[in-house]
Amino acid sequence: MVDNIEKRLATLRSASTIEARAHEVHLELWNNRYDLFVDKVPSHPLESVEPAVALSMKGFRVVTDPCLGEMWNEGRRVRVAGVVDQDARLVKISPNLDGQERRFTTGHELGHVVEHPGMTLHRDRALSGHMPRKDNMEREADLFSSCFLMPARHVLNEFYARFGMHVFRMNEDTAFGFLLGNYQGCRKKIKLQRDASILSATASHFMGRHFLPLNQFFGVSPVAMAIRLEEVGLVEPDSAKWVR
Ligand SMILES: [Zn+2]
Repeated sequence: MVDNIEKRLATLRSASTIEARAHEVHLELWNNRYDLFVDKVPSHPLESVEPAVALSMKGFRVVTDPCLGEMWNEGRRVRVAGVVDQDARLVKISPNLDGQERRFTTGHELGHVVEHPGMTLHRDRALSGHMPRKDNMEREADLFSSCFLMPARHVLNEFYARFGMHVFRMNEDTAFGFLLGNYQGCRKKIKLQRDASILSATASHFMGRHFLPLNQFFGVSPVAMAIRLEEVGLVEPDSAKWVR
C-alpha cells in the first residue's frame, strides 16, 4: 500500500509542475510552523495547510472586504469573491462566501501569487458548478488551490482508509457498500465519471462503516473534492462504467 502511494505521488509530481510547487509550499509551511502559527503550532502536516498563512509567509496581507463589487465573467455579471493586488502585496476576500468557498478562493489567490508572479491587480469569482473555467491562468490557479488544499498524499491515504480501493470502480459490490438500492436503479443514478466522484467525495459510510466525508475532512465543496479525486486518478473516466 505504502509503495503504491509513493509511486503515484512521484508520478503526479513529475507530471505536473503545479502539483510539485504546491507540495513545495506545504514543506515551507511545515518547516516554518513555529514562526508562522503563533497560537497553535500544528502537530500534523495537514494542520499547516492554511492558504491565508501561506500568503502571509509569501509577504501578502489577507483581509476581508465587503466592497469588492461585481465583475463580468464569461458573459455573466457575478459577484467578486477575491482580489489579488501583487504590487500592494494584498489579497482581499469577500465576506459573502461560505467557509469552503472562502478556503478555495484564498487557495486560488495563493495560486496566482505562486504561479503568476507578474500579474498585478486581478479579480475573481468563486468557483461553483461543474464546468472548469475557460481562461488558462484561472485554470492554473484552480489547480494550484486544489493541489494545495487537498495534498495528494493525504487524499490517497484517506480514500484508501475509507474505501479500501486505489481506483474507484462501480459494480454491484460498491453499490451495495454505499447502500444505493437495487442494481438497475443505481446504474441510472451513477452514469458519468463525475457522478462516481461526487458519490465518493461526499459518502459518509461504506460497507457498514461510518466516517467523515472526504470533502468535509479537507474543508472543501463536494465539487472541488470530486475534481481532486479525478486529478489524482482515484476516479477514472471508466470508473462509472459498471463491471459485473
Ligand atoms: Zn483568478
